[in-house]
Amino acid sequence: MTSSLSIAPEFVSLEQALKHYFGYDSFRPGQREVIERALDNRDQLVVMPTGGGKSLCFQLPALLKPGLMIVVSPLIALMQDQVELLRDNGIAATFLNSSLSAEERRSRGRAVMEGRIKLLYVAPERLLSEDFTNAVLPHIRDRVGISSITIDEAHCVSEWGHDFRPEYRQLSCLRSQYPAVPIMALTATATERVREDIIKQLQLRDPTVLVSSFNRPNLYYEVRPKGKTAYQELVKQIKETPGAGIVYCLSRKKVDELAAKLKQDGIAALPYHAGLNAETRTENQTQFIRDNVRVIVATIAFGMGINKPDVRFVIHYDLPRNIEGYYQESGRAGRDSEPSQCTLFFSTADIRTIEFLISQKVNPATGEALEEEQRIATQQLRRVINYAEATECRRTIQLSYFGEEFPGNCETCDNCRYPKPLEDWTIEAQKFLSCVARFAQKNQHFGIGYTIDVLRGSRAERILKNQHDKLSTYGIGRDRTLEEWRMLARSLVHQRLIDEAADGYSVLMLNELSWEILRGQRKVQIAVDKVKPTPVATPSISLDTKESEELYNRLQHLRKRLADEQSVPPYVVFSNASLRLMAQQQPQTREQFLKISGVGTRKVAQYGDVFLAEIQEFREENGLPVDADPIPTPKIIKLDAPIVAPGAHEATYTQLYTLEMFQQGTKPADIAEQRNLRLTTVMTHLAELLEMGYEVDLDRLVPRYRRAKILEAIGSVGDGSLTDIREELGEGYGWDEIKIMRSWHRKNYS
Ligand SMILES: [Zn+2]
Repeated sequence: MTSSLSIAPEFVSLEQALKHYFGYDSFRPGQREVIERALDNRDQLVVMPTGGGKSLCFQLPALLKPGLMIVVSPLIALMQDQVELLRDNGIAATFLNSSLSAEERRSRGRAVMEGRIKLLYVAPERLLSEDFTNAVLPHIRDRVGISSITIDEAHCVSEWGHDFRPEYRQLSCLRSQYPAVPIMALTATATERVREDIIKQLQLRDPTVLVSSFNRPNLYYEVRPKGKTAYQELVKQIKETPGAGIVYCLSRKKVDELAAKLKQDGIAALPYHAGLNAETRTENQTQFIRDNVRVIVATIAFGMGINKPDVRFVIHYDLPRNIEGYYQESGRAGRDSEPSQCTLFFSTADIRTIEFLISQKVNPATGEALEEEQRIATQQLRRVINYAEATECRRTIQLSYFGEEFPGNCETCDNCRYPKPLEDWTIEAQKFLSCVARFAQKNQHFGIGYTIDVLRGSRAERILKNQHDKLSTYGIGRDRTLEEWRMLARSLVHQRLIDEAADGYSVLMLNELSWEILRGQRKVQIAVDKVKPTPVATPSISLDTKESEELYNRLQHLRKRLADEQSVPPYVVFSNASLRLMAQQQPQTREQFLKISGVGTRKVAQYGDVFLAEIQEFREENGLPVDADPIPTPKIIKLDAPIVAPGAHEATYTQLYTLEMFQQGTKPADIAEQRNLRLTTVMTHLAELLEMGYEVDLDRLVPRYRRAKILEAIGSVGDGSLTDIREELGEGYGWDEIKIMRSWHRKNYS
């Protein structure tokens, strides 16, 4: 693309830039279009499902455009996570929020003003604070320029969305204050109405709207009846599915109970809900993200702001409240695009619980029922029940909720893989409906449970008192089990062959279709539940040999160790998919290593040699041929030093770029010219890199005969102030060479 070429001449194509910064070989659907438009400075609304590669749509343009990109993000945890991932790829990103000390904020502010940062994440409150809008932003614009403004989780701007935040509304002022700066709004969830609202509220200018498919092909959806053996099934599924998982429950109490029970049964599980104190919550979340504990049992309070890509299963042990919520929660599985499992345990008892919760929605001041809210909630619950009871493709139902048509036959949902056989239950339906008709004759209305009791000849006191043991339909259904009658009744309601009143008590009422059945004019077919196996989520790239599996395990341990050393989650180091490719292809050189998907330039520099060494050792132990060339001693990074030094001692992307050119033999003056930097800046990069422990060839920077004198001066005045050293040396020595030698001294003697 010409637009990208003119901006970032060092890359021939967007793909090359993608590989360089993020390690991927190709874009995911929709990403390229969005990035090209961003480089053209267009306003955009991007609607992409979680796990669709949304962040990359703004991160790559931020790196390719001059100036600083402001990213508005509502959640501190999400900000930190994204910045961590970016920095591990060597990308200059930082965030400002209330969790930082004043000193840290100042230091980050300086880095921004010096142009050392490409992406700045801020919470809306901070961005909209007077100090920020009146002083900081204009200053950034004048000093380094604002490349664009990105508004993540843009649905927060809309009252129609599920997560409205009033402060997001005020972001509209950005457009009037910075009319020339393009705005990109992103969201993972938006119905037509929310979309229109985002465009209007943020005053997007002739925006292009990209709505990518919400289909998540790597997720397997299934619904299981929550019967007596549900807990055993749950344990079995967790034990048989490798990797991390989330189990959702409706209440805090159930979360605590289930987490304790799982622990007793030998599964490393921790609870998470709003009733725990903030410290415990953070601690449990961290344990989960860092793979110290495999399962988190949680209320829906858990998940927002979690970006763990390798969650292998999400189990709803209780019924979710609505389809959108279910889509979002289950969508926390498999963000790394690997096969993952979404299971929903369904029981009619849960419906009662949610109905009760809905009935509690009252105005706290007056105690009056909030009818509108109750009506919407009931409607949403109805759709969840329809989803759970459906016999058609689960994807078709979910996607229709987002206005997307899906043809079905997905092969990765229970209904497509194990279609339920349809059986003719017309006679049973007639028995059931005529029982309801007998009640109606006496102007009485009852629910499903009572009707079944009468059919099955129950001696319950209520039935005897109502004299329903005298009805002609009393006891005519003894040949079927309670469960079978329930299944029929549900199906009749679902197929709208009978109506169920939803005004508090769910009583049954015959409709036109019911009468057609009773008159023998209509047949009734129902899908009969059979026990179905749970397919275990298996990785898409299977490890075909025992050997590669063993190596994979070793690489996983290595990754965990490196991650723990840096206090980051393992996925920040490498994804599972990358590790598996390493185990399969067993690269032996840096060039081969760079070809692994997910391995970019920075990753090779940072981790390449450690991983190559592990692979080589493994091959030697197993008598496999080893490349004649031994792994070179680490060139760029000192491996005995912490891989990422904390805080200010972390190399920025621009420094590493200088290093790369310098190591390829380019002279500092030429680097400065090619990169349009001042020579002093390049020399400062090299000095700082030297101090951080990167290998920088001193011979090419300061001639040997000049070093002794400079070191002598440092010896007498210390390696603090450059001015002091220069004064000690007298005329004839330059700032740059003093700076380089001071760094060398600091590295070796402090
Ligand atoms: Zn399907």
